Amino acid sequence: MESIDAQPLGEYFGKLAHDSDLLEELTSFASRKNISSGVFTVIGAVKYAKLGFYDQEKKEYCETEFNEPMEIISCNGNITLKDGVKFAHAHACLCRKDHSTIGGHVFSMRVFAGEFHLRAFKDIILREYDAQTGLGLMDLQ
Ligand code: ZN
Repeated sequence: MESIDAQPLGEYFGKLAHDSDLLEELTSFASRKNISSGVFTVIGAVKYAKLGFYDQEKKEYCETEFNEPMEIISCNGNITLKDGVKFAHAHACLCRKDHSTIGGHVFSMRVFAGEFHLRAFKDIILREYDAQTGLGLMDLQ
């Protein structure tokens, strides 16, 4: 296990713009506030989502698109730097009209309404390619 003792920078509450992309909104906010690392939660509703499931054998994402109104039951993620740019990594559980749920790694979500809480840290956390998993993981050494 690797870890760091992260130093708090600040906490923010925010409202995502209607029809915006959730990840783009969060990375844009992080850029405006000069935030290099943080964790966030989002609740609200979306009109569309592209979610991924990582195939651990093939080491690649299977992507599925959902083009329908859905509630964000839970959306958690973090902000780090990947290839020198701010990168929001999020997972979400979404609820359909019949109350069934879907979820996965978030590639894209079109916001109907969204409220976020972001806890920012002073630390610069980079993502590096991890050969064992095939993923870009946090480099905490
Ligand atoms: Zn993920």
